[in-house]
Amino acid sequence: MPDSEMQQLWSTSHLSGGNASYVEELYELYLHDPNSIADEWRSYFQKLPQSNGFAGSDVSHSTIREHFQLLAKHQRRPVAAVGGQTSSAHEKKQVDVLRLIQAFRMRGHQGSNLDPLGLWKRDEIADLTLADYGLTDADLDTSFRTGELHIGKEEAPLREILDALKSTYCSTFGAEYMHIVDSDQRRWFQQRLESVRGKPQHSATTKRHLLERLTAAEGLEKYLGTKFPGTKRFGVEGGESLIPMLDEIIQRSGSYGTQELVLGMAHRGRLNVLVNILGKNPRELFDEFEGKKKIDLSSGDVKYHQGFSSNVMTSGGETHLALAFNPSHLEIVSPVVEGSVRARQDRRRDGSGDRVVPISIHGDAAFAGQGVVMETFQMSQTRAFKTGGTIHIIINNQVGFTTSRQDDARSTEYCTDVAKMIQAPIFHVNGDDPEAVLFVTQLAVDYRMQFKRDVVIDLVCYRRRGHNEADEPSGTQPLMYDKITKHPTTREIYAERLVNEGTLSSDEVQGQVEEYRTALDNGDHVVKSLVKEPDTSSFVDWAPYLGHTWTARHDTRTDLKTLQDLANRLNDLPDGLVIQRQVGKIVEDRRKMAAGALPLNWGFAETMAYATLLHEGHPVRITGQDVGRGTFSHRHAVLHNQKDGSTYIPLANLAENQPRLDIYDSLLSEEAVLAFEYGYATTTPNALVLWEAQFGDFANGAQVVIDQFITSGEHKWGRLCGLTMLLPHGYEGQGPEHSSARLERFLQLSAEHNIQVCVPSTPAQVYHMLRRQVIRPLRKPLIALTPKSLLRHKLAVSSLEDLADGSFQTVIPEYDSLDPKKVERVILCSGKVYYDLLEKRRKDGLEDAAIIRIEQLYPFPEDDLAEVLAPYKALKKVVWCQEEPMNQGAWYCSQHHMRRVVAQHKVKNLYLDYAGREASASPACGYPSLHAEQQEKLLQDALTA
Ligand code: AMP
Repeated sequence: MPDSEMQQLWSTSHLSGGNASYVEELYELYLHDPNSIADEWRSYFQKLPQSNGFAGSDVSHSTIREHFQLLAKHQRRPVAAVGGQTSSAHEKKQVDVLRLIQAFRMRGHQGSNLDPLGLWKRDEIADLTLADYGLTDADLDTSFRTGELHIGKEEAPLREILDALKSTYCSTFGAEYMHIVDSDQRRWFQQRLESVRGKPQHSATTKRHLLERLTAAEGLEKYLGTKFPGTKRFGVEGGESLIPMLDEIIQRSGSYGTQELVLGMAHRGRLNVLVNILGKNPRELFDEFEGKKKIDLSSGDVKYHQGFSSNVMTSGGETHLALAFNPSHLEIVSPVVEGSVRARQDRRRDGSGDRVVPISIHGDAAFAGQGVVMETFQMSQTRAFKTGGTIHIIINNQVGFTTSRQDDARSTEYCTDVAKMIQAPIFHVNGDDPEAVLFVTQLAVDYRMQFKRDVVIDLVCYRRRGHNEADEPSGTQPLMYDKITKHPTTREIYAERLVNEGTLSSDEVQGQVEEYRTALDNGDHVVKSLVKEPDTSSFVDWAPYLGHTWTARHDTRTDLKTLQDLANRLNDLPDGLVIQRQVGKIVEDRRKMAAGALPLNWGFAETMAYATLLHEGHPVRITGQDVGRGTFSHRHAVLHNQKDGSTYIPLANLAENQPRLDIYDSLLSEEAVLAFEYGYATTTPNALVLWEAQFGDFANGAQVVIDQFITSGEHKWGRLCGLTMLLPHGYEGQGPEHSSARLERFLQLSAEHNIQVCVPSTPAQVYHMLRRQVIRPLRKPLIALTPKSLLRHKLAVSSLEDLADGSFQTVIPEYDSLDPKKVERVILCSGKVYYDLLEKRRKDGLEDAAIIRIEQLYPFPEDDLAEVLAPYKALKKVVWCQEEPMNQGAWYCSQHHMRRVVAQHKVKNLYLDYAGREASASPACGYPSLHAEQQEKLLQDALTA
């Protein structure tokens, strides 16, 4: 730093006329924590020459001292010598006071009163006492500069500074924000927290409203408890402050112009949120309790998994609320909510995230324990998945079912510590202080709106009735429940406070209780802001997709001219785009394919499926690891300029007003990313939404999403989903992993036409399959096993005419012109093994074995297979051939379909044989020679045994 700059810093410092020892103290602070000192000093220290040449190593004290002594010579004001006189004693204390302020900002939350039950034993906090800084009570009346403490005074007695710090940082909430590196954000919090000393004044109306919301929260639980004793409802009791908190989030977000809020939450408090926040009619809930509700879904779900939608009025206008359906896996709904929010933002062209806001409500044990929380946080600022910040709420009842917080539930101090990985600010708040809850809620919403980042509110509370109402919690948490039984409710505590301070009378308190109870008795809606006739103009119309089966009529053809025109536009690259040599060859080949001069390969046909869908007005979204290029380099949808690293996406440049094309390499997560895409797809029916696994077996890490959303969501909750999963699959000697997409798992999960499982084996098939997924008015998840080596296989090619005229074939008949009369054996198969069989049959000159490909394994196309089998009247044998071991692949789950078809064949007494690997514990062997041997044997078995 030039000396002139230094002079400036020196003279503008709030301790102008400071001395070398002051700077040394600052430097000590800087070494301990660079964020604990003012920005200008930090940047000064950062620019000092490093003592050993390595960045980050500290500069010796003598260097600092020399530097400042030198500088002091140039100061107009005399500088006290180091270790000097009276004024330097004060200066030293002044530095200590500043350190004390920083300590409260950093550690004050540890001294806060957060636990309503008072059971949380916390260690004595070092750093928050005067003694820790060499200060004593004798200094309390001495005035010190307040530095950047925002209490409206440049100077104040230490007593006042200390009081302000305690009131701001050690009250009934604790703020953690000093881990945020961005100084603007830290200053924002300091200003907001310190300027009101942690306790803003609330009007009597606000206080009444708070009490009214608490009365509603408590009232509903009491009502349900009396009417349906012992029935599980996962009541909010102990955490009633959740209701005023959500109410405030909705109203305040509305005042910012937010038009939609999507909430995800687990069980606790859900019924309360449905009735008291979303405005579900209590009568409907009672009917559910009484089992009266008519279920028109084949499965349905328990009441505390149900989603709901409504509109409420806010000062900013009508706001749509959507509570996501969720399974019992507590945390998995968060990324689903994010996906749904992103879809809504994309639809509204809300790039900043102002108009649609996600709210994620978590339990403390799951938040601390489940990895998907970290995955979801990691997504929060990435291009593909960001939603402008999520408001997270932890209903922290300080126990995980029966697992104690103290010893077993986690290794971190707070259940929220994982949020620090993205530098999210965290507020811990005592649930028994509704005004503190209100204050942190307002800060959280304002922060999210201003900085567009995640924020966490840790609502420290308890569960009054154990894990659920059928549970007896005192067996495992005796002390906690001894305390809870004697502990007044949050409403009682707050009502007493308001009566004592004269805000309202005991009669008015009682009046609120009775008014709520009467509303429930009458079965009235209890959300006053509920819009009875909501504006549905921005809703997606799902009607076109209802009531169809997989055989619904559709046409996936595109005329040749349009195809060529689109292909030419894709391959017409802008000037200045210098692409890598091999990529250039791929583009060149695609130009030839478009001209009909080369057969079409997989990458071309797949790209054309996207291009034609975009051309027809359907958005396309593709995420997954390495999808831009494609794990096996076949896609190259994102071109990288070799000159400057910029990217160009041909599919996004087809036409001026084309629909959205989003293609993003995802972070290396499967669970959260797949859940996100499920959320996106269930919100955007007119788009093709794809998730691609790097290798098919990577979907393992997302099994919860597959089991509990993708394959069962429609039957549990009536939520349609057109998500496509692309899972590379094929036995190519790569070992136990990276060979199998675990087809058997998807087939085992298939029932009631819940999903489609396809194994396309030609470029034209992938083209028509992807187009069918959007054009057919059916929204069912598509599980597509996609190839690896076939991406470049000389036989796996199609023609432009195949795209222009064809359709997706669920069964592909024999390709070669065998004489059906001579065919004595039919081999049924799916995927890559077809080409191995074909090549071997041709090589061996066999003419009696026809090979039929089943390209859709579920719903199984029995009629189509029967039709293809019909010409073979001399049949002696039908064989199912697969590469997978016998206990895997399609054999166990699909053979009954094939047997049924074979049994109906004209030739009687036909039997279905198996040719494939022996049953195996692992999906594939790890030795290339053994792989080759097994592969050869299964081909031989299929063709001749
Ligand atoms: P939402 O914006 O999520 O509150 O949805 C508004 C309405 O659209 C819901 O009440 C449903 O009737 C319908 N809807 C939303 N998503 C789906 C879906 N995935 N499948 C079927 N209907 C849906």
